[in-house]
Parts: sequence; structure tokens; C-alpha cells
Amino acid sequence: MDNLRKLLAGAYRDPDTGETLRVPMKALVIEATLAGREAELVKALDLPKPFAILSDDDTYAALGQRVETALASLGEIIPIRLGKRPHPDDETAARVMREGERAGAYIAVGSGSICDLAKYSAARQGKRCAVFATAPSMNGYTSVNAAITVRGHKKSLAAISPDGVFVDLDVLAKAPKRLIQAGFGDAICRSTAQADWLMSSRLLGQTYRTVPFAFIADLENQLVTDPGALLKGDRAALSCLIQILLLSGFGMTICGGSYPASQGEHLISHHVEMMPPQGWEPALHGEQIAVTTIVMAKLQDQLLARDRAPHLEASKLSAAALKSHFGDEVGAACWQDIQPKLADGAKLAGLNERLQAIWPGLKSEIELVRRPAAVIDKALAQVEAPRRYPAIGLPRAFFKNAILHAREIRNRYTFLDLAADSGLLEPERLID
Ligand SMILES: [Zn+2]
Repeated sequence: MDNLRKLLAGAYRDPDTGETLRVPMKALVIEATLAGREAELVKALDLPKPFAILSDDDTYAALGQRVETALASLGEIIPIRLGKRPHPDDETAARVMREGERAGAYIAVGSGSICDLAKYSAARQGKRCAVFATAPSMNGYTSVNAAITVRGHKKSLAAISPDGVFVDLDVLAKAPKRLIQAGFGDAICRSTAQADWLMSSRLLGQTYRTVPFAFIADLENQLVTDPGALLKGDRAALSCLIQILLLSGFGMTICGGSYPASQGEHLISHHVEMMPPQGWEPALHGEQIAVTTIVMAKLQDQLLARDRAPHLEASKLSAAALKSHFGDEVGAACWQDIQPKLADGAKLAGLNERLQAIWPGLKSEIELVRRPAAVIDKALAQVEAPRRYPAIGLPRAFFKNAILHAREIRNRYTFLDLAADSGLLEPERLID
């Protein structure tokens, strides 16, 4: 809890600038159990009443019922129960906002979907919110955006960060195994994301910050010594994982974007979700990230093993190619978005010169902070998480296609670009 406590107290020192950092959250409590303390914790946040308490069938059984009973002692509550596995889409959000209209604040009891619905609805209605976490499944608890599907398209929309996040480790230990595995996937991708961000920053001269990685490093090292402990309900391991995920969310807020937690591995996953195979039952976010992180780690292994810097060629992407791949509307939007990272002519010569010059130093700098594919693969195997595309239900040709085109959806320069522009992106070598 040390780094989290320091961040909340405004006492964490940024290793790059020496300035102290503070995150906009009043309370963050992680305890073996919170039974009997629910009302006291929420009361201390001084949120406007009444409270609309959000849960689904599973989270209601896990913790929601307990929270509803406890908070009823503070005044009127508005229970919003969303049934079995609600989807965080515009329709469900509309229902939440309708039923929660009179509420002063939302209290989410759940993980990804429930938390996103509460954070998003609160932002839209100018309310506040707090979260009782039920699973260490993703890094969105503390982030300022929410993944909401709007008319069939998954979007990252503006949301608010909760005033309080409360974690009962006894509840986390009983979370479905898949959710814990997914959370580990969304945590272990730190390695490939950091390598991507470091590479693009050094090559393109963009901002890079150490802080979102510095406050996670010790926890991650501790967790990967025995990831299998997560499946045995080990409280120390679960505490480690949830702290990493909470800090990862704060890292994005501090950096003013998802750079430290979402690079090439997330682009591949987003591409899969943008253009899913017919009839595909989407895997959990972190399950997809587990698989795509191994792909990126293998790609980084391959490129970083080269003594000489890759030689970049002019981009072969075109507006027509993107429109034919993504459809007219989405293709045109992606083409517009990625313009800044495309290189031609003088810019290309400059990039190659720079890449040659920095390559040996860049390689050592990245090797110091990344984990090789084999290490990530072993850690994921220890938590029995999905590691290859069949485990998340994707056909081979489809997954290869997603790896090839992932870099076209966003202006984020990753090892996917470095490899593709130098003729070294070979999905066939990355997926088995
Ligand atoms: Zn993620």
C-alpha cells in the first residue's frame, strides 16, 4: 500500500522531475476483509445522497447484498440490479442514468462493466461515485475513462475517477478464476507497453515518463515470482495484483493518456474487437491482452536481437487500403488519425539516421525494463491464462490479419510500426 498511500497523500516523488504527485481520490482501502465497515467507509467520503447501488447477479451475491444492507443504515438507497452479466453499452448506461436520476452518487459493486457504467453515468450526470471492487480483473477502477459500446462500437469515453475504491481481499479471493487471469494479463502487458513507449519516445522525440512504471516495479517483481499463488487465493498475491492494477490506472491519469498501459498489445486487441469474426464470443479484455502481449513480446525479442537498427522504408499504407480494410467511414477516420506517424522523404531519412545512432543505447535501455516473451509466457502459464489465439476463440488467419492491421487504427507508434515499415512484421513467426 506504500506507493498508493503516498500518491493519495500527495507525497509520491516523481523520479523524473522530483516534484510530488497527487491523484484525485479521497480513499483507497485494501484489507483482508471490509465486512462491517462498508457504511463507515462510504460515510467518510461525504457523497451526496441518496446512493444508487449498482450490481449484477454475480456481484450482488458476492458483495452487493452486504453493501446494500450496510448503506441502508445511512439513509435511502436506490438499488440498481442489472441482472446476469450486463453489457456496458449505451442502452444499459441509459437505464442506469434513468433509475439513478434522483441519486446523489453511484456506488458500484463489481469490476469492469459495473465500474465503467457507474463512472460513465456519474460523469454524464454530474454525480460522484465510489467502488467496491469484486475482482482484480482490469486496470479501469482508477482511470478517468470507461469502455462503453455505443451503437455496436466499443469506445473509450470520458468518465470520472471514483472518490473511493474499497477492496475486500476475501471477496477478491472468491472471484471467478477467469477474472483473476484477465487481471494478470492486463498487468503483465506493462512490459510490452513500456518497451513500445520507450522506443517511440526515443525515436520520435516524444514525452516519456518513468513514474507510472517506477511505482509498480517492486509489486510486479514480487507478483511474478509466483503468479500461481493468485489461483490459490493467496491474499498477498491478490493484494499485489490489485495494487498494480490500481496504480496502472493512476499512471494513465498522471500521464494524461493511456501510453504507459496500452500500446501494441492493446492495438491488436482493439482491432479484434472492431472487426470480430462472425459469431465470436468476446473474451475478457485481459484475456485478449494476455495473448496479444505474448505476440508483442516475441516481436520485441526479434527486433531487439538485431545488432543493426532496422531500416525504415516509406509507409505502404494508403487511404484506399484502409478504406477497403475497415470500410469507408472507419477507414477514412483511421487514415486521418495516423497521419502524424507516417514517414516519407526527408522525414524518413531523418528517422533512419536517428534510429542508427540510438539503436545500441535504445536496446540496452529497453532490455533493462522489459521481460522476454518466454518469461511472460511462463508467468501466464502459471496462472493458467490464455496464451495463444485459439484460447480466445480466434481463427488463425483472422488473428494474423489483426496483427498486420492493428497499427492502422491509431496514431500510436509501436514495435508494430517499426517492424512493418522495415519489412520485419511476420505474424506467422509471432503466434505459435
Ligand atoms: Zn487494458
